Amino acid sequence: MSIRTRFAPSPTGYLHVGGARTALFSWLYARKHGGKFILRIEDTDLERSSQESVNAILEGMTWLGLEYDEGPFYQTHRFDRYKEVIQQLLDQGDAYYCYCSREELDALREQQMADKEKPRYNGKCRHGSAQTGERVVRFKNPEQGEVVIDDLVKGRIVVANKELDDLIIARSDGTPTYNLTVVVDDMDMGVTHVIRGDDHVNNTPRQINILKALGAQLPVYAHVPMILGSDGARLSKRHGAVSVMQYRNDGYLPEALLNYLVRLGWSHGDQELFSIDEMIQLFELEKVNVSASTFNTEKLLWLNHQYIMSSDPAHVAHHLSWHLGERGIDPTTGPSLTDVVKAQRERCKNLVDMAEDSLYFYREFETYDEKAVKKNFKAGVDDILQHVWDRFDAMIEWEAEALHQVVLDSAEHLQLNLGKVAQPLRVAVCGCGVSPAIDVTLALLGKQKTLDRIARAIALIKNS
Ligand code: GLU
Repeated sequence: MSIRTRFAPSPTGYLHVGGARTALFSWLYARKHGGKFILRIEDTDLERSSQESVNAILEGMTWLGLEYDEGPFYQTHRFDRYKEVIQQLLDQGDAYYCYCSREELDALREQQMADKEKPRYNGKCRHGSAQTGERVVRFKNPEQGEVVIDDLVKGRIVVANKELDDLIIARSDGTPTYNLTVVVDDMDMGVTHVIRGDDHVNNTPRQINILKALGAQLPVYAHVPMILGSDGARLSKRHGAVSVMQYRNDGYLPEALLNYLVRLGWSHGDQELFSIDEMIQLFELEKVNVSASTFNTEKLLWLNHQYIMSSDPAHVAHHLSWHLGERGIDPTTGPSLTDVVKAQRERCKNLVDMAEDSLYFYREFETYDEKAVKKNFKAGVDDILQHVWDRFDAMIEWEAEALHQVVLDSAEHLQLNLGKVAQPLRVAVCGCGVSPAIDVTLALLGKQKTLDRIARAIALIKNS
């Protein structure tokens, strides 16, 4: 059997991390088994769906690298097909028109609540109705027997059919409801494994009954537990970033987020870092935790730093260039980004910090960090800076080792400890008191910018 999985987001907002994890699991499962991964946009709720959200979801999938083999399919393009299936169910006696008015249904509901019964449709129109007027279509759920789901994550789930009522599959305006569209699509798209959030687990027995009525092959189900925030409530905006693209904006690498998400509720011994290939090889739905997992931003940040340090610097540079672009920087106006990554990667846990701390390589800073100036630009420091300026000016080969030697020699000559030379120099060329090692910083910056900035600092000290 060739495996077919799908990710079926409703485009009512950005791609959030919970959705991304579901998508990742579906993608991994398809990749592991040499199957196909389908993207389906469930946009039938016209009021809540938007093109903007569709774009946000596609952007998120692309950024994460979760490429789909088929789709995106849009449910709004498939209304004719849903109508056809609704008609088929009506024709074969598995669905019926229900004329019960909203008032009638509300009264029924109130009565059932008063009797402490579970609110459910009582099947009044199931055997035909003399009523006319507005009508919906309901699925005729079997009254006997039970539905058995062998969920790959949750294990066996058994639901008695008498617990399920006849759900509406077409509204009074003829539009199909969620449970119908999902069933038709999963059937038509030949989905073999439905991997989705466990907020859908209550829909599954109903969907299985419709699939059976249609004579469809039943997929295997895997319901993935929710992600919680640190306070135990379902992860939401108030816990911080939940949108995948926010993580890009906050300086995370997509692989780090994927690695974090795959580990959230799944483990393989005590291994923390997984390349994409390892994830594909090792991931197993059967080993996903049954209980919900808690999102831990600290852990994600730690992983991000591991990825920044161990990934190919050219790859990190590619992502860093996006952040610099956001800050109006054209990276071709300064040192090689790959070299900047190599210089900065130990210090920076995310790419926002790395971009912010690398701006001085690419553009003049307007102001100096006040504290750093106070501490390092005291009277007399202009002479120290002038001394190194002269030596730098005379240099022919502008590279780190030679620069290191010049700084060392200058300190010795001036009878100062190294910090007394290196730190004012750093403030002069970076505008702040932190940067990679001074020789590396100067090498990246280049001779002309170094000389100009030292001259600027000397003038500042002289005039203050
Ligand atoms: N569209 C549904 C959602 O976004 C998912 C449906 C499914 O996976 O079956 O929650």
